[in-house]
Amino acid sequence: MTLSQGRDLFMTPGPSIIPDRVLNAMHRAAPNIYEGPLLDMASDITEMLKRVAQTVGKPAVYIANGHGVWEASVANIFEPGDKLLALATGRFGMGWAEIARRYGVDVELLDFGVSTGFDADRVADALRADPAIKAVTSVQTDTSTSVSNDIPKLREILDTIGHDALLMVDCIASLGCEVHEMDAWGVDVMVAGCQKGLMTPPGLGFTFHNDKASIVSRRFRTTSPYWDWEPRTDPEFFYQRFGGTAPTHHMFGLHEALTMMMEEGMEAIWARHQKQAEAIWAAADRWADGGAVRLNVPAVHDRSHAVTTFVSDTENLTELRQWCLRESGLTLGIGLSIAGPGGDNVFRIGHMGHMNPPMLLGALATVDAGMKALGIAHGDGAIDAASAQLFR
Ligand SMILES: *Cc1c(COP(=O)(O)O)cnc(C)c1O
Repeated sequence: MTLSQGRDLFMTPGPSIIPDRVLNAMHRAAPNIYEGPLLDMASDITEMLKRVAQTVGKPAVYIANGHGVWEASVANIFEPGDKLLALATGRFGMGWAEIARRYGVDVELLDFGVSTGFDADRVADALRADPAIKAVTSVQTDTSTSVSNDIPKLREILDTIGHDALLMVDCIASLGCEVHEMDAWGVDVMVAGCQKGLMTPPGLGFTFHNDKASIVSRRFRTTSPYWDWEPRTDPEFFYQRFGGTAPTHHMFGLHEALTMMMEEGMEAIWARHQKQAEAIWAAADRWADGGAVRLNVPAVHDRSHAVTTFVSDTENLTELRQWCLRESGLTLGIGLSIAGPGGDNVFRIGHMGHMNPPMLLGALATVDAGMKALGIAHGDGAIDAASAQLFR
């Protein structure tokens, strides 16, 4: 006998839960890609993406995952020999830098470890030391560590020094979950994907760029026609929007997801994700009381509202993850990059996109039950603390 017969719960930090409305919107016959509603839908998608990112800058849509738009952003901004200052607070900051390196970019990597945001003084020193740096890359929320970085602070550092570098931000995990105001924050290039806060099956990636970035990308024409974002943002013919055949069914899904986001409103979405995160931290604080499992990020202001990473010095959290899946149909996120030998001392909860209190409390209660079943030391009262935080 297994109790796990209902709808499985997928709480990984991407792909996230796909709403039924999005699934239903995708369930249809192949549409006309030459004329008619699909073309208007592409324009609607562009307008809604701009509202999600709080920008008048231009979104380009690629049939790609996050790694694809990392490459797109690099291909549009850098020529071999250009300098990049890459900030890392986990695996994803390093991944973006690695793609740039393969393009022949001269990368200076500042690694801030796995449990805090970037150090402003070190960033300022590196920028002061090198006026030739063409761009700074930072990840708003590094999904491996659940560290969240203060992006407006980066703009402030650049402006205080008077450094002309472009500010490039990876919002693949944070867009549609955590506050992001691209224009107000002075972000020049932003990359995102559809399968986390945007609740759509993996397969679409986005770059957003402003006029300053556009001037840089137009200065050289070595970008391949496929990655070039200009025809995608200002297409002469519809097929140029996607560098080829339109991702028809993904467009129906994304359009529905963005419509849901417009109905909820960005302020409400951000507030909800913050509440959900605070509920998880409340549970985590209780578990950590005399227990063996704790949050990876100690300071509240460094924590993501979209994903939470748990660590233990003594317990095998892979067994906990497997127990939750086997006994309850709950999938948790595996440890990435910060895992110790064997990788068994980490798990992550994704709390992005389509989520409500029973899903969240159910997941936390299942983890709590797993700790009891496996004899993992933990403090009491986690679920009470989480629900009190949600409905306070
Ligand atoms: C998920 C993620 C990526 C990678 O996206 P893929 O779609 O897996 O290629 C990059 N950066 C961040 C912050 C992410 O969360």
